[in-house]
Amino acid sequence: MLNVPSQSFPAPRSQQRVASGGRSKVPLKQGRSLMDWIRLTKSGKDLTGLKGRLIEVTEEELKKHNKKDDCWICIRGLYYRKCQLISKEDVTHDTRLFCLMLPPSTHLQVPIGQHVYLKLPITGTEIVKPYTPVSGSLLSEFKEPVLPNNKYIYFLIKIYPTGLFTPELDRLQIGDFVSVSSPEGNFKISKFQELEDLFLLAAGTGFTPMVKILNYALTDIPSLRKVKLMFFNKTEDDIIWRSQLEKLAFKDKRLDVEFVLSAPISEWNGKQGHISPALLSEFLKRNLDKSKVLVCICGPVPFTEQGVRLLHDLNFSKNEIHSFTA
Ligand SMILES: Cc1cc2nc3c(=O)[nH]c(=O)nc-3n(C[C@H](O)[C@H](O)[C@H](O)COP(=O)(O)OP(=O)(O)OC[C@H]3O[C@@H](n4cnc5c(N)ncnc54)[C@H](O)[C@@H]3O)c2cc1C
Repeated sequence: MLNVPSQSFPAPRSQQRVASGGRSKVPLKQGRSLMDWIRLTKSGKDLTGLKGRLIEVTEEELKKHNKKDDCWICIRGLYYRKCQLISKEDVTHDTRLFCLMLPPSTHLQVPIGQHVYLKLPITGTEIVKPYTPVSGSLLSEFKEPVLPNNKYIYFLIKIYPTGLFTPELDRLQIGDFVSVSSPEGNFKISKFQELEDLFLLAAGTGFTPMVKILNYALTDIPSLRKVKLMFFNKTEDDIIWRSQLEKLAFKDKRLDVEFVLSAPISEWNGKQGHISPALLSEFLKRNLDKSKVLVCICGPVPFTEQGVRLLHDLNFSKNEIHSFTA
């Protein structure tokens, strides 16, 4: 039998309907739309003023904050599951690969380009920070066969000695628990459809979304002709998975990797400096004039903002650029 959709729209119990009790709606200012609100919430600004701390808010408390200059909104909560730390491995002097195991009979598929929140109690307060899951390795033969992917989740995380969250995460022992949220993010895999040239610009741990993108692009996009990664770091010691990247580029001729260092030793004969028009215009050459191109960029906010400006100057359209931000 056909599943005929209801003719009534919005659906009878949809939040889009004004409740019979009379939920009052306020019209938006002229020229404003829901997108302005979405952009603001995704901008990375600390809108709560809580610097990542979580606080319990009761309905009674929420009701008190209903004035123009003191207005709280409850949007939606994230669902957290407790995951167990299975292994922790040094990747560079300050970055580690964490492997967490999901609780039994649960499933967590984080789509490519999306992140989750990790949560830990720190001195009596619950702290959450966003992290982008990676594959366990860039090279399939390095994948641990006894760890099927849907039971384990991997993170490449840089430890900041004076940071709020990462030193605590680093202090966890194997077998300890971390809470992991459901995924969030606005990257759409449809961006890869018919893609021919893929450019990835990453700085430091901004490399993390590029891991799954690289794995996916090189195995699942038949139209792909070229992938170029430009990876910005301070020194050679900061480069995450350098030898894996070099091996992958050797194995798959569609991949080129270029490392750019801002503080190299004098013997370094690769590219030097920060993101700049000169570096990008030389690197971002399309295969063909009309080839379908995507440029993904991720790193510290000033890096990403500068990069996006330069990409526009180089005539890449909005649709051809995806920047990863909170
Ligand atoms: C969508 C998204 C995905 C991310 N994915 C990853 C990932 O996969 N891997 C990863 O490693 N990181 C990732 N991050 C970054 C991560 O969320 C944290 O910001 C990072 O781990 C630092 O957390 P922290 O609490 O340890 O350090 P923080 O307390 O935030 O401090 C970080 C550094 O800044 C310094 N600092 C803090 N406050 C100030 C101040 N007021 N003035 C000057 N210096 C200051 C600290 O001393 C420290 O050196 C991601 C961020 C976003 C937005």
